[in-house]
Amino acid sequence: MAGKTVKTEAIVLRSIRYGEADRILHLYTAQRGRVGAIAKGARRPKSRFGGRLEPFFRLDLLLHEGRGDLLTVTQAATVDGYPRLRASGAALGAGARACDAVLRLLDSAEPNPPAYNLLCRYLALLDDRGAAARAVGWSTALSFRLKLALVAGFSPELASCARCGEAEHLVGFSGAAGGVVCAGCEAGAFPLSEAAHRFMVEAIAKPLAEAPAAGELELRQAERAIGETLEHHAHVQLRAAA
Ligand SMILES: [Zn+2]
Repeated sequence: MAGKTVKTEAIVLRSIRYGEADRILHLYTAQRGRVGAIAKGARRPKSRFGGRLEPFFRLDLLLHEGRGDLLTVTQAATVDGYPRLRASGAALGAGARACDAVLRLLDSAEPNPPAYNLLCRYLALLDDRGAAARAVGWSTALSFRLKLALVAGFSPELASCARCGEAEHLVGFSGAAGGVVCAGCEAGAFPLSEAAHRFMVEAIAKPLAEAPAAGELELRQAERAIGETLEHHAHVQLRAAA
């Protein structure tokens, strides 16, 4: 077979039935960023891939790169199947929203190890909490989203006014400016409470498992701030975070 072999870890973001017995996979890989791959015969009862080519599986893969757009999966071993995540509706929903955000925001075939590790950590956290995944909740989902924006290169400016650099009297958030804005620059911005601002700063600084608590109003403002930043600067619209 001409072409070359790529060995990489990957998370299955999406798995689509294709043809008689195949699957097409959207993968986020450690070595290649986002790639598409085909697994031939994956839906046959005795397929050597077993049931592991499903969303959220963390796999060790051998991929064959030929001339087409899709790589071909030649070997797949499970690194982690996150079984407790799979058993909880709340955790499955959160995992699906995370994978969807990665699909929309990280579409390049450039390796991005921080993005890969972040997704693995979030899925592991959902798996850890399992049936208690509801407790992971909105603030953790937004922490994930903020960190994802950061590793994708679209982190909102939170330290000083995104328009003039003023460090005091930060009262609003502007997606177009890409961050917090001061009272003098707030035209076109929406009001951002101090608590929502603090939530975003702490959520970026702290590990995912220690996402800060915040009220509904703060979380709603934070989600809007992240969403508008990504719309303006990454041209990506994300689904509701929780
Ligand atoms: Zn300003």
